[in-house]
Amino acid sequence: MIDWMGLHGNHLHEVEERHQLHSEALLAYKAMQLSAINDGIDLQLVSSYRSFDRQLAIWNNKWNGGATLYDPLGQPLVFETLTDKQKLFAILTWSALPGASRHHWGTDMDVFDYQRVKAWGEPFELVTAEYEGNGPCAELSFWLSDNMESFGFYRPFDAYTGGVAAEPWHISFKTTAETYEKERNAKALLQHLQSANISGLSTIEACFTEIFPRFVLNRGTL
Ligand SMILES: [Zn+2]
Repeated sequence: MIDWMGLHGNHLHEVEERHQLHSEALLAYKAMQLSAINDGIDLQLVSSYRSFDRQLAIWNNKWNGGATLYDPLGQPLVFETLTDKQKLFAILTWSALPGASRHHWGTDMDVFDYQRVKAWGEPFELVTAEYEGNGPCAELSFWLSDNMESFGFYRPFDAYTGGVAAEPWHISFKTTAETYEKERNAKALLQHLQSANISGLSTIEACFTEIFPRFVLNRGTL
């Protein structure tokens, strides 16, 4: 059975000290990285495989006010003013439910230009502005648009359509990711969440039929 909820991690290989990728995505990633470096772009991983438990920790931290929440354009929200439903939708715009992150698959990764970010010297926050205009990862973003497809990668969060916010840094190894996409199902996900120690469960349950297609499948609303 395919481990689409990040429960076991048997499909993974170490890439670097802190990173793991799906064995099928590893060589393609390495080849793409080498090509980028040859073009003067220091393509490196910010985030790669993430387990269910790691995503659960991220989720619970956000639900309980431990991190700033943002609107779809990246503007910070005032936590205290949000209803539980608003909080749910705000978190889902930028973070997946545990069990529903594409990072569970090892096929998906967030990338940045390490050398340019280091030279830039400001705190790196993985926000859109860093990947546009004069941002330190703007050249990387152009390079990805021009080249990633030939290595089998694409951007699953290319544009905001009412689901997950646009994430120019998030790329996916398409052929393998598609086998995971087909496995996703609402019932199994909800059942697993009900057995986990997740904050906001009653709100998640009440909105589940809406949030599954909108955010998990990222069909959006537009
Ligand atoms: Zn990502």
